[in-house]
Amino acid sequence: MLRPPASTLAGTHERALRAFRARFGAEPRWAAAAPGRVNIIGEHTDYNGGFVLPMAIDRYTVAVAGPGTERRIRLVSANTGGEDEFDAAAPIIRGGQGRANYVRGVMAGFQRLGAEIPGLDLLIDSDVPIGSGLSSSAALEVAVATLLEAVTGHALDPVDKALLCQRAEHEFAGVPCGIMDQFASALGREGHLLLLDCRSQQLEHVPMIDPAVSVMIAHSGVRRELAAGEFALRRGRCEEAADALGVELLRDATLERLEAAKARLPDETFRRARHVVTEDARTTEAVRMIQQGRWSAVGELMYGSHASLRDDFEVSCPELDALVEICRGLGEAGGVYGSRLTGGGFGGCTVSLVATEAVDAVGKTLRRTYREQIGLGAVVFVSRPAAGAAILPMERLPMEQP
Ligand code: ADP
Ligand code: MG
Repeated sequence: MLRPPASTLAGTHERALRAFRARFGAEPRWAAAAPGRVNIIGEHTDYNGGFVLPMAIDRYTVAVAGPGTERRIRLVSANTGGEDEFDAAAPIIRGGQGRANYVRGVMAGFQRLGAEIPGLDLLIDSDVPIGSGLSSSAALEVAVATLLEAVTGHALDPVDKALLCQRAEHEFAGVPCGIMDQFASALGREGHLLLLDCRSQQLEHVPMIDPAVSVMIAHSGVRRELAAGEFALRRGRCEEAADALGVELLRDATLERLEAAKARLPDETFRRARHVVTEDARTTEAVRMIQQGRWSAVGELMYGSHASLRDDFEVSCPELDALVEICRGLGEAGGVYGSRLTGGGFGGCTVSLVATEAVDAVGKTLRRTYREQIGLGAVVFVSRPAAGAAILPMERLPMEQP
């Protein structure tokens, strides 16, 4: 089914409460939720100090907890079956492989702020696809941080919460991510995209409420295995180009300046930088077009972004290209304004802008044609720009009352 039920969050919340009772044999006392995210445009610009334009999706990770014994943390994921147990009386440290380091890192962040973490039984449940580039990792971190706000009474500014979670991902999970994922999960607002300036960390909520236009996400079914090493290589090229142009970050380079330096730069470095510089321009332009409801123009910018990621930055793959080309083939007559790979690339998802009335037909064609061409099943769904993290009420849900 393409349209998620109106209350996916309520459903996940309820499932998490049930799973908690079944696992720990007690009533939970606290609950919190945080969404995954999709980036509409602005890819590989974050670590160059540029702009990104994500939105929170209406798929959430829910964390529920009750008081534990002593100062032990007992943690279980209903999604993976993974479990972890550690002591909250001492400073929490990174555990080995298979340990819940995203959660440990967030708890350590609270300890650093002077918050005392009590013993907790904690259960995670989520309907954010895991490892798909929709940032289940940020959803997990931000859900746990929001839960800890409720547990410890130590409320954080959402920006500080996002930064605490980013640090957890850097230091405990070993992933040198930018700020986009945690900001989108912590600061998402219903009916809005987030324009994020990754240099100043300034944020603007951009309304996107036209009911005639939908955001469609298609998962290629390809895991992003190449991503880590290739990512480091591209980061290096970007730094090289910035050095050559005499700017601190490529955000400060212009296309004219880059073109003027072309002869001095290795071709690959030039093309990597050209992607970043043009992508920044496309992102700020996309915001202007969205504000005017000019969806064809937004769609063209998305196709432009994909071509640049494919040809200049070289982070696409045949599967993502196929998904985008199927959309382009449908065209506006078939209900598609634009499409591009979203996230780091080398697999994961595409994001497309689709006329709402055509959503079912486009989804069907996308799945069928993708299977014919690639031989894989694509998971396709739509999401409205959703609300960010929140503490959830703990009164019993209506259907569970005797
Ligand atoms: P993405 O953030 O795009 O989904 P990542 O590789 O960054 O992909 O993060 C996925 C990892 O986050 C998983 O391998 C797992 O360690 C952790 N994770 C995220 N959500 C959950 C969950 N609900 N339960 C257990 N682990 C989770
Ligand atoms: Mg992640």
